[in-house]
Amino acid sequence: MTQAAKTGSDHLKALQDGRWISINGEVVSNHIEHPAFRAAVKTAADLYDFSSASPNLEKMTFRSPTSGRAVSRAWQLPTTYQELVERRQALEQIACNTSGWVGRTPDHVASTLSAMVMGIDLFERHGVKRASALQEYFTWARDNDIWAGYAIVPPQTDRQPPARQGDFINASVCDEDSEGITIKGARQLATGLPMAQELLLGAVQPLKPGDERASFTAMVPVNAKGVKLMSRKSYEQLAGSTFDYPLSSRFDENDTVVYCDEVKIPWDRVFVHNDIQMARAQWFDIPVMAYQNYPAQIRLSVKLRFLLGLAYRMAQENGLLALPPVMETLGQMAAEVNVVQGMITAMETNGVQYGKYFIPNSSIQYSAMVYSQSLYPAFIARMRELAGGSMLSLPSSVADFTSSATAEYVERTHGTAKRSAVDRVKLFNLGWDAIGSEFASRHAQYEIFYSGPAFGNRIRNYSAYDWGQATTLVDNFLSSYDGPAGPVLGA
Ligand SMILES: Cc1cc2nc3c(=O)[nH]c(=O)nc-3n(C[C@H](O)[C@H](O)[C@H](O)COP(=O)(O)OP(=O)(O)OC[C@H]3O[C@@H](n4cnc5c(N)ncnc54)[C@H](O)[C@@H]3O)c2cc1C
Repeated sequence: MTQAAKTGSDHLKALQDGRWISINGEVVSNHIEHPAFRAAVKTAADLYDFSSASPNLEKMTFRSPTSGRAVSRAWQLPTTYQELVERRQALEQIACNTSGWVGRTPDHVASTLSAMVMGIDLFERHGVKRASALQEYFTWARDNDIWAGYAIVPPQTDRQPPARQGDFINASVCDEDSEGITIKGARQLATGLPMAQELLLGAVQPLKPGDERASFTAMVPVNAKGVKLMSRKSYEQLAGSTFDYPLSSRFDENDTVVYCDEVKIPWDRVFVHNDIQMARAQWFDIPVMAYQNYPAQIRLSVKLRFLLGLAYRMAQENGLLALPPVMETLGQMAAEVNVVQGMITAMETNGVQYGKYFIPNSSIQYSAMVYSQSLYPAFIARMRELAGGSMLSLPSSVADFTSSATAEYVERTHGTAKRSAVDRVKLFNLGWDAIGSEFASRHAQYEIFYSGPAFGNRIRNYSAYDWGQATTLVDNFLSSYDGPAGPVLGA
């Protein structure tokens, strides 16, 4: 019998795997119930419950060609424009379920692996065994509808020569034998690993001769022996109530530095090995970088729409909507939201056939990344400008509403003729958590850096752009008129 679609409880079971994950000096034994992670983990489980519910099944899943199981459309390899759009509609729904506030939902690394499979020829040239490992892993991952995260950047401490004697700072192969490779060292910055089952380790930053041992790509279960996940502080844990921190308290996907303490990875999970050219080519010579960040733009378009709605509601609540400068700011922000949304449509309508697959236009995708990296902080700055002091003239916590000493004064100072104090404070608490809290600040850093530093994306956009379509216009124009007939030097 075909297995049913993955549910939230299937996912929770899979996460109870005895992994090594630390926070606040403690190695957590059951992270799915720990106050630092449990709400984010529940958000992850809710995504699977949503997709597997029968009214949503058609939109969110498709039949795996190997197992026949209904699995996330994130794993679907589109062959037509129509399939690309259907897949995007599912991805957009995933983003809507978290209002765009979870960056590394499972569609992200599923897209990485999908694009690697679309470019399997490149892996075959690198090594037939590595290509078949990738293909088989992809089939297994799709049929089990896994959630994977990734860490593909060396730790910044790796750039401080000389390395300490004997240290493996950037994760590298320290041993290999007939069974596989052994990895030692760190990679950053694996977002969402408390919610994930598997981890992709790779190297996206340029490697030079001598760095061969760092040039590997492999999948490891997050509970593999020797994998140490070191979390940053948990905003979820610090949040207290959902009323006070509606986003931090539910969507803090956490970011972890991964340390591999001699992690043994079998060959059937190794896709790239000992080849610095291939370590780079897998991202850029096939459309992996563009395809894995296309869902990120879909998510961002949802998040920006959410923020725009929030800006509108806050301005409305403060009685500002009739003021022309406020209308102007909101009009500017609405234009920016439409640009991001329009770029997604443009990526699809200008999509290209890549072998038998139909993929979004890479040049427009890179342009969207460049645009949104600088847009996000500017967008947040406009929201701050509109909000004034409203997000800071709030009660200290939900307790002020229930304490007999403060409740009456909270209602007198925060209620209006149209809104109760609870409703007004609820709105502005959301505003603070979206644009001012530590969670919000981490999000600003995320949107600027999740796809690498901006200069890299600008250079990739330079390489991907079809300059002929721009320069031909100029050249044709220049040839439409003559210059003066002057003397020719040397004639
Ligand atoms: C919240 C968050 C979540 C993330 N999630 C993930 C994840 O899930 N998986 C993952 O693998 N990565 C993730 N990343 C991205 C990744 O880990 C890096 O942060 C990102 O690639 C930037 O690299 P870096 O931090 O080393 O910054 P750097 O490369 O050191 O950049 C810092 C600054 O230096 C400048 N700079 C550096 N080198 C040059 C140069 N040669 N020329 C000009 N300027 C330069 C940059 O432009 C930038 O302004 C995440 C990042 C953040 C912030």
